Amino acid sequence: MSGTPHSLKVENLHKRFGEREVLRGVSLQAQPGDVVAIIGSSGSGKSTLLRCLNLLEQPHEGTLSLGDETLRLVRDRDGSLRAADAAQLRHWRSRLAFVFQNFNLWQHRTALENVTEAPIHVLGRPKAEAIERAKELLARVGLSHRQDVYPAQLSGGEQQRVAIARALAMDPEVMLFDEPTSALDPELVGEVLKVMRGLAEEGRTMLVVTHEMEFAREVASHAIFVHQGLIEEEGPPREVLVQPRSERLRQFLSGGL
Ligand code: ADP
Ligand code: MG
Repeated sequence: MSGTPHSLKVENLHKRFGEREVLRGVSLQAQPGDVVAIIGSSGSGKSTLLRCLNLLEQPHEGTLSLGDETLRLVRDRDGSLRAADAAQLRHWRSRLAFVFQNFNLWQHRTALENVTEAPIHVLGRPKAEAIERAKELLARVGLSHRQDVYPAQLSGGEQQRVAIARALAMDPEVMLFDEPTSALDPELVGEVLKVMRGLAEEGRTMLVVTHEMEFAREVASHAIFVHQGLIEEEGPPREVLVQPRSERLRQFLSGGL
């Protein structure tokens, strides 16, 4: 990780798709080293929330800050965002790395090339240095022996581990995981969760949308239950996930939502 870790603050985030308001004023914070588990039923706005945090989707309103960099998001009448210009967007995105449910690896690049691509072309790192670091990161996720293989030849669990190495290669301050194990065969889930546990143990700041309740209970420092675009309940995982206060969360946890 580069430099001093910073806190992430999200205030009053709103996002609409057409007439539909999918995020209706979400606020949250993550201190350095926090692991925030985000749970909620399908369609509640979890992916949209994560995507808004690194501006894969542009929120309509709200404030995002990481350390002393603050983006106030207010739309002009023509719909364009006033706060962030293209350079600021690029910089912001490089500070928060995204790991997707479906890995999103470049299919025509080897595992190693997937990891070196952005450091070379986005961060402008020298190629030799990027390759050396990528090899370290692939070793870290247990894939040294697979570095020259293309994604199609990798299992889902291996592909997701490459995607995690690729995210780490950007030296992000915050890692965003959107259901990182949901596309995997059950027997491959454990190897990815193990890597994520290791990242949590080394003090990485992580926001993880997940249905893996055991992981959330054991690894997360904070749990957030999202319902219809709002945070319905939050707190320590051992309270939120074990002794839910709201009826909706109780229903969700018992599989009824
Ligand atoms: P979750 O990840 O909790 O399942 P999402 O954030 O993906 O929920 O979606 C929340 C709601 O926003 C859903 O009703 C979904 O259909 C809608 N939605 C998400 N992305 C788009 C989009 N690009 N265009 C229109 N509607 C969208
Ligand atoms: Mg989703």
